[in-house]
Amino acid sequence: MSWDGPLFDNHMHIDPRNGRGLDAVRDFHRAGGTHLMLVGKTARDWGIDARDVPSFLLAYERTLGLARDINEETPVTAYAAVGYHPSEMTGIAEACGVAYALELGFGLLDVWERLYDEGRITAVGEVGRPHYPVPEAVWEASNEFMQACLSFSKRSGCPVQLHTEHFEEAQFAEVGAMIAQAGHPPGIVKHFCPPFPDLARRNGMTASVVASREAVVRALATGEPFLMETDYIDDLTRPGAVLGPKTVPKRTLSLLDSGELDREMCWRIHAELPERVYGVDLSAP
Ligand SMILES: [Zn+2]
Repeated sequence: MSWDGPLFDNHMHIDPRNGRGLDAVRDFHRAGGTHLMLVGKTARDWGIDARDVPSFLLAYERTLGLARDINEETPVTAYAAVGYHPSEMTGIAEACGVAYALELGFGLLDVWERLYDEGRITAVGEVGRPHYPVPEAVWEASNEFMQACLSFSKRSGCPVQLHTEHFEEAQFAEVGAMIAQAGHPPGIVKHFCPPFPDLARRNGMTASVVASREAVVRALATGEPFLMETDYIDDLTRPGAVLGPKTVPKRTLSLLDSGELDREMCWRIHAELPERVYGVDLSAP
């Protein structure tokens, strides 16, 4: 079945230093992809040992430069997101103390607000809490910072992509309560979300579901729209660690073909929902 509408990958890392860079984006385009959320890699991936706000800014500039390159040198539209990955916060907490890691996060909130106001980023991400066990003090600081990120989103209007541990119903409810406490910011996206977009929505989040066939088919069964992502990491030393860059357009087109996805839902997933969450216009060149 032909589809000439947008096809959006909500969470891609592109890494010209350690991966295929723009060639991966061109693969995405050849498969039918049109728009992507470029989620900045960690400062370490850029070769920067970031321990303070200025060094994070350096890493952010690399991500913003890469988004510009994608927009100028390929037919794909890239939106940029920068953040403070939970693994970065954990590493800095180990090296410099939990209080320092948390203060640094608060300092980054001001940077994000400025970048968002200047129209240089479309979202903040990824931020949240680690998906692996950490000392109690780090866990508490991560939760405090996640709450601050939710309030930041409410205050600034900037959407936020959350990275968390695996979610079951209890975690949806717990983070849902934190979102309510922040005043229900509308742009909270659960990255790597299990295929329950209805449950996510009831708890104040938009689900971003990994584009495996099984997950997408399950998510479609709820009748609730969701975002699709690969979490492509573009790292030549970890081939096959994640879904490849073509996966979102390929999966979408094959489900359209088989009739498991109808055109109206396809439009809601790849145009309406991203436009509503991120305030972008996917029909714009
Ligand atoms: Zn990611």
